[in-house]
Formats: sequence, C-alpha cells, structure tokens
Amino acid sequence: MCAKKALQLGPGAWAAWPPAPPRDLQRPETSSATTLMDIGTRRIFNEDHDIFRQSVRRFYQEEVIPYHKDWEKAGQVSREVWEKAGEQGMLGVMIPAAHGGVGADLFSVAVTWEEQSYSNCTGPGFSLHSDITMPYISNYGSKEQIQRFIPQMTAGKCIGAIAMTEPGAGSDLQGVRTHAKRDGSDWILNGNKVFISNGWMADLVVVVAVTDREAKSAAHGISLFLVQDGVKGFQKGRTLEKIGLKAQDTAELFFEDVRLPADAILGEPNKGFYYLMNELPQERLVIAGIAIASCEFMFEETRNYVMQRKAFGKTIAHLQTVQHKLAELKTEICVGRALVDNCLQLHAEERLDTAMASMAKFWASDLQNKVATQCLQLHGGWGYMWEYPIAKAFVDSRVQPIYGGTNEIMKELIGRSIVSRK
Ligand SMILES: Cc1cc2nc3c(=O)[nH]c(=O)nc-3n(C[C@H](O)[C@H](O)[C@H](O)COP(=O)(O)OP(=O)(O)OC[C@H]3O[C@@H](n4cnc5c(N)ncnc54)[C@H](O)[C@@H]3O)c2cc1C
Repeated sequence: MCAKKALQLGPGAWAAWPPAPPRDLQRPETSSATTLMDIGTRRIFNEDHDIFRQSVRRFYQEEVIPYHKDWEKAGQVSREVWEKAGEQGMLGVMIPAAHGGVGADLFSVAVTWEEQSYSNCTGPGFSLHSDITMPYISNYGSKEQIQRFIPQMTAGKCIGAIAMTEPGAGSDLQGVRTHAKRDGSDWILNGNKVFISNGWMADLVVVVAVTDREAKSAAHGISLFLVQDGVKGFQKGRTLEKIGLKAQDTAELFFEDVRLPADAILGEPNKGFYYLMNELPQERLVIAGIAIASCEFMFEETRNYVMQRKAFGKTIAHLQTVQHKLAELKTEICVGRALVDNCLQLHAEERLDTAMASMAKFWASDLQNKVATQCLQLHGGWGYMWEYPIAKAFVDSRVQPIYGGTNEIMKELIGRSIVSRK
C-alpha cells in the first residue's frame, strides 16, 4: 500500500508534503553544521540552551583558558574559579531549585560538559562535583544535609568529591576495606582512598565504607558517609602526579579513627551499593558526553591545522589520504554524537539503563582515544609538542576508558544484560 493511500490524504495534500518539521527539528545536526562545535545545532537543544551555551563558552574563554597553564603547573585550579562558576549558574545545574540547585534540565548540564571539552581545559572538576557527587546528596540526603550542603555547592563555596576507589579495590567495589563501626550513635571511620578527583581541594567527600562485615554479600554491607574537610583524623595525602589532567587535583585520602555523628550517613545504612548502582549510569553518561565533545574539538583543531600546514607546495588538506582520514573521523564522530544525544534523551526521560550507559561510555571513550591518536598523527611532530592543544587533548583522553568503571567492566555489564534475558 502506498503511503499516500495509507494516510488517506485529500486533494492538494501532496503540495504540502512532507509537512514542516517541528521547530527544533530544523536545527542542523553537527554533520551538516559549519563546524562540529557550532552553537544553534542539534535537535535536542533549543534557543535557551544556545544562550546558556554562549555564556558558558565565554566563561571558559575569560575565566579558565587564560589561567589553565598556571593551574597545570600548580596541579590544581583556583578557588576563585569555583566561586565564579557558581555565580554564573554553572554548578549544580540539574539539582532541583527546591534543594538549592539551579533546577535546569539535563540538556543544559550537557552544555557545560561539552563547553569544557571544547575549551580543552580539563582542570576544573565541575562535572564530578555537580553531576556525579551532588546527586547523591540531593537524591539520598536528609532535609538537613540538603539544606546544609547543596546551596554551598551550587555557589562553588563547598567543593565535592566522591571516594570509592582504594589501593586494593577499584573495579571490584565489593572489595572496599574502608570501614565504619558504630560507637553509640556515632560512627568511627578507618581506611584510605586513592585517585580521588577534586580530592585535594574537596570540602566535602562522599565516602564509600563497609558498615556490615557479616552481611549476606559485600554489596549488602556498604554505606555512604559525608565527611567534611578538617574533621579530626581525616588527612589528605599528596596530589598524585599524572600523565594528563595536569590541572586536576587527584589525591589520596586517609581516615584514622574519624568520629562521625549519626547524621553523617547518607540515606540508610547498608544501602550504599544500591545508591551507587543507581547513580553510576549518569557518571558514565557524563564521561561519554565529555568524550564526544573532545572528539569534536580535536577534529576542528586538526581541520584548521591541515588547512594551513604546507608540504610539497600545497596544504596537506589537499592530499587525498588526509581528506579520507578526515572523512572517516568525521563520520565516526557523528555516529558517536548520535549515540550520545540519544542517551541524553533517554536519560532526560529516566529511561537510560546501565547497559546503554555502559555502551556509550566504552564506545565514546575508545573513540576519543582513536581520534586523539589520529589527529595527533595529522599534526606530525608539532602534535607531540605540549604547546599544541592536540598534545594535551591526547594525554587527557587516556584516562577516559579507565575511570568511571574501566571499559572492560563496561563490557562485563553489557554482556551480562545480553545473556540474562530469558
Ligand atoms: C585520574 C583518575 C581520576 C579518578 N577519580 C576517581 C574518583 O574521583 N573517585 C573514585 O572513587 N575513583 C576515581 N578513580 C579511580 C578509577 O575509577 C579506577 O582507577 C578504576 O575504576 C579502575 O580501578 P583500578 O585502578 O583499581 O584498576 P583494577 O581494578 O586493578 O583493574 C586493572 C585492569 O584489570 C581489568 N579488570 C579488572 N577486573 C576485571 C574484570 N572483572 N573483567 C575484565 N577486566 C577486569 C581492568 O579493566 C583493568 O584493565 C580515578 C582514577 C584516575 C586514574
């Protein structure tokens, strides 16, 4: 049956066929935009998002890029940039306004990740603070915890971190040794954590600890605690020297007989693993979002480079091998963009499941490393020089398949979902 018959169209209907798409569908996708970082593209966004994007882009140009080299040397960003980001409404973007957050939508949050990737400045740990740590407090915290911490975190006056990983427990979270024991109504916390982003600057850390060693499985005996900087027995170790993310403070944390009041526990005792499993898909989506935006940045850097770099009397952009390489890269990046935008839409509708988030994280972060390697190659020797943005993007990419659950663990999660279907 032809489409015309099936739809029972009246006379003259073909003149108006196909019907005008809804307004947001008229926005070009990145594949047909002038550059992959253009403002005003992609059907998941609207004009309000564009205005927000402009202000976030300006923030990175004025408040981050000029200082980033100094922060790379210092191994951390300034406190002022956190407060400025708070004033600009760039922290706690998706946290409900009733809790003291900005109360905007997920797509506005995605704008903040993307603009940070487009700035190529990985120092400020804003997404870890806003979109990975704050949701634990907003979703599982008591009214008092929410009132105490969320407004301060939204203002950038209280920097947050989340401490799961330990020297002996990374992928296997059920192997956590950090332990909290009851003492009257208090808890006594002992243990140590490693590789904690924002760890050195953190004012507040969500700490994963075992609270019931006798539980029927390790997962049933884990709780989350809110630990504030300055509490007796909480020590920050050195900031770790990394191959990339040079301006990002990644630290070791030590807890020795830290006495925590009863109201330091987040949510219910022994429910921590369940809370982690609920929140990890969003963490993986953040990583995927950062990855694809970084690919877009690297692609545009490389496009600009090959169009001005000369060899054999012409720009290297004239070489067919270079054009084919760019064609392959752009195609793969657009595939990745479609995947991540789809995940953003699913998550906005609360339909993003663990397997899909894991697919996006593993695929996008692997693509980011492939794009980084190939874009650096197209820069030749200059690509290996720190002064070229592609060099920084290359080393910063490397951690993405590792943190937030390694890509091997992502495949475990995807694999389990495939074979568990009855
Ligand atoms: C820069 C940086 C920032 C970080 N920030 C944070 C943070 O803020 N908070 C936090 O809690 N953690 C953080 N991490 C820690 C990160 O999440 C862990 O490094 C990661 O989960 C891997 O754990 P691991 O290092 O112990 O490696 P391991 O678990 O020892 O893994 C080693 C290798 O074995 C593989 N492997 C392990 N188990 C399996 C399996 N079952 N099947 C297949 N392969 C497997 C892994 O994929 C990996 O290739 C950060 C790490 C880095 C490098």
